[in-house]
Amino acid sequence: MRKKEDAARKRAWRKAHPESARAAARRYYAKNRERIREVSRVYRKNHPEIVKKQYQRYCAAHPEKRRLSRRRKTLAQYGLSIGDFDCLVAVQKGRCAVCGRKPVRHGHIPPLVVDHDHQKMHVRKLLCQQCNTGLGMFRDNPKILGAAARYRRQTQNEWEARQLTLPLELVTNE
Ligand SMILES: [Zn+2]
Repeated sequence: MRKKEDAARKRAWRKAHPESARAAARRYYAKNRERIREVSRVYRKNHPEIVKKQYQRYCAAHPEKRRLSRRRKTLAQYGLSIGDFDCLVAVQKGRCAVCGRKPVRHGHIPPLVVDHDHQKMHVRKLLCQQCNTGLGMFRDNPKILGAAARYRRQTQNEWEARQLTLPLELVTNE
């Protein structure tokens, strides 16, 4: 009973002095960090189901925090922070570095994505989804991309030349 009363008293104090309680918690954590981390690690290992449920409850209650944390994780793969990403967007004036379009957000898909070197993981520039997928489809290979551009120009020119030589009725029926 004594313990319960003590706990209730402490809770009331924390509620009445939130700033001091936070500062005390921070001091306590700094002093006992390694031990707290170890206890937490062991608990997570021994109670994976409980931890999973807690995480799911937290995510459901804080969807915006979950999105932010995912975004942070994705950008961290390229060594970028959210601030760095926003900086890149500002430098490119919100435009794709290939087609120059200013794409808009589609649901949870961001308008611009990070184009990066897959082997070295270094960041090149920001691209729209389509250009980024396009580069990937051409195996990210400048030679193939150049060949595709040449092919496209050549077939366009041939098509235009054929238009000029065909009789008018054939052109319109094609
Ligand atoms: Zn683009």
